[in-house]
Amino acid sequence: MRHLLSAFLLLLCLPSIQAQNEPWKGKFEPIDNMIAPPNTYRTASGAPGKDYWQQCANYHIKVLLNEKNNTISGEETITYFNNSPDDLSYLWLQLEQNVNKKGNEDFGTFNNNVKDSISARQMQFLTRAIDFPAGYSIKMVKDASGNNLKTMVNNTMMKVKLNTILKSGESTGFSIAWSYPITDRSMYLLSREGYEYFPEDGNTVYLIAHWFPRMAVYNDTEGWQNQQFQKLGEFALEFGDYHVEITVPDNHIVASTGTLQNSEEVLTKAQRSRLETARKTFDKPIMIITKEEAQANEKTKAIKQKTWKFNAMNVRDFAFASSRKFLWDAQAVKLPTNTVMGMSFYPKEGLPVWQEESTKAVTQALEVYSEATFDYPYPVAISVNTSNIGMEFPMISFNGGRPKNGKISDAAKQDMIGTIIHEVGHNWFPMIVSSDERKWMWMDEGLNTFLHQRTLAERYPDFNSTTPKSIVPFMNGDKNILRPIMTTSDSELLNQFGANFYMKPTVGLQMLRNSIIGKELFDEAFKEYANRWKYKHPNPSDLFRTLEDATATDLDWFYRGWFFTTDHVDMELSNVKWFKVFEENSNIEDKNKNKKVKIAATEKNDDEQANGFSNGPEVITMTNTPDTAYGEFLSRLDDKEVRKQLSGKNIYEVTIKNVGGLVMPVTIEWVFTDGTTETDRLPAEIWRTNEYEVKKTFIKAKEVSKVNLDPNFEFADTDVNNNSFPKVENQSEFDAFKNKKKGK
Ligand SMILES: [Zn+2]
Repeated sequence: MRHLLSAFLLLLCLPSIQAQNEPWKGKFEPIDNMIAPPNTYRTASGAPGKDYWQQCANYHIKVLLNEKNNTISGEETITYFNNSPDDLSYLWLQLEQNVNKKGNEDFGTFNNNVKDSISARQMQFLTRAIDFPAGYSIKMVKDASGNNLKTMVNNTMMKVKLNTILKSGESTGFSIAWSYPITDRSMYLLSREGYEYFPEDGNTVYLIAHWFPRMAVYNDTEGWQNQQFQKLGEFALEFGDYHVEITVPDNHIVASTGTLQNSEEVLTKAQRSRLETARKTFDKPIMIITKEEAQANEKTKAIKQKTWKFNAMNVRDFAFASSRKFLWDAQAVKLPTNTVMGMSFYPKEGLPVWQEESTKAVTQALEVYSEATFDYPYPVAISVNTSNIGMEFPMISFNGGRPKNGKISDAAKQDMIGTIIHEVGHNWFPMIVSSDERKWMWMDEGLNTFLHQRTLAERYPDFNSTTPKSIVPFMNGDKNILRPIMTTSDSELLNQFGANFYMKPTVGLQMLRNSIIGKELFDEAFKEYANRWKYKHPNPSDLFRTLEDATATDLDWFYRGWFFTTDHVDMELSNVKWFKVFEENSNIEDKNKNKKVKIAATEKNDDEQANGFSNGPEVITMTNTPDTAYGEFLSRLDDKEVRKQLSGKNIYEVTIKNVGGLVMPVTIEWVFTDGTTETDRLPAEIWRTNEYEVKKTFIKAKEVSKVNLDPNFEFADTDVNNNSFPKVENQSEFDAFKNKKKGK
């Protein structure tokens, strides 16, 4: 004990304990009590556990699209497999179309404020001045023997009471007949689906999504996922196989999830032969339906109907688009383990940019995402043009971006291509790595936006893409309004969710990849997460744990700050002291005498801190080590050698203050008097013992003229005006602009 005690006392004597004026907040403490504890379903490593299970639902659906009255009606048989350890007496289904029923819409999520001046369309969104019919008519629910099943509807969810208990490990089949009016997408906010009418030629593009009653998720963390659809929080869905027969006017073209089963019944010989060519064409899209053909199609009104049959295996959803206006192009995309058909469907109003860019963007996304995670497993990846928004479904996405009179601005074109990449990218998150969107919007949007931005950076280097600097205005926002990333989807504000659920997690992952973990390790861990959870339902804790498990990096401090708080990064380079060992004093022979060595420091008093290095180094002393400092050690450090090593060198003691609150690694750029630079990187752990102020000493052969923190904007530092020493009166960009205008 004595040895330990003296060693402890010695340690106390060595480093100076830095003053801490504010309470310790435990920023490096484990987040174990903030995330779900591990169990046999979800392991502490972040992988699915040995008892992991999930439900499965297969669908046979026959659906009729009635163009005359814009309605859709269908009949479906669901086979539901109860893989849970629990016996179930009832099932919950989702009826998302009911969100558009008057009185049901958004359950008060959207603020209803009327301004002095407001457009008629906004007023329609707020008041539904022009009413429209919406929501399901459920006509029949029967079990496999044809007996009626009792149902109860609660807004967007329907409870089906089973006639016999569905035991663990068993399956049940039941049928539902239903219909609903397809809504006009221009009539309300956040219209992910519905129809768009083109007055000029009297035709319609139908985007059909969350259109059939489907199984809610039942899992080990929630039981039944019982959060109602309120529009912002999207979907939580089970995987299964789909057999869908879609009956539409006979000159409509259907773009759909899945593989077309009856092309000889619905496509012309010419279209089939062009598709065959496209299957072997890897360098450019082949037109399956040309502009001229689509225009001819627009002019003929259908009398008969056609039924398109699609199969889709192991998908969590099914969507389609239908119109006689569609042009169609396709090309093959070769991935290491799969050859995919990238395809685009668009009305002539999308020309020429859609023909030039859409399928190309699909191809870029398929290649980059596959490389970063796992090969795209499905047979097709489709981009359908819409008037606005971008919305994703398995194998198919609806993407906004349309030229005006054939012309599109650079910014709008970048937006359009970015949207296509993003929505195709959603095939990975959440269509395959199937997180609960209704609960955690950031899990799919954040991870997807991260790879979407990486695709832009790699394949469209001239485009604007998100970097840590992009999040600074958001991080600087009013803390009374900001929410942490770990906020449930529907609790976020409409004007904040883009920054908080898309951009902030993206920047977080960029910081982990580029600055904290390193590209190679991070990329492997990200791939590990994607592969562990493909076709499964991960929770945030599974992601957090996997990234640590696969990199041997403790990231709890990062998750705690970036995901669970609204703190921001603002580091201040508050002082740099300069010492120098003078040549004439570094050569002391008699080590028994307590000779003094001249050292210099710039610091005189606090007022002069900002003067920088102009005063030169100043005198302090370095003594020979007293014998008592060695305790029981018999060997001695060579004081002379220490002096020799330091002789002529510059010693800089840097003081950094954590003003913002978020702990982050520290990057220090040294600008030497000869104009050269050098960078030192300190890990975030330097803040472990003092979360507010750290001091660190460096030895440099050259003299320093300037020191900068975070010179490459890696950490979203919200105020860069306090990042340099000597302090510079940085003009803000706005001031610089103002002064330039004034001719200064
Ligand atoms: Zn998205």
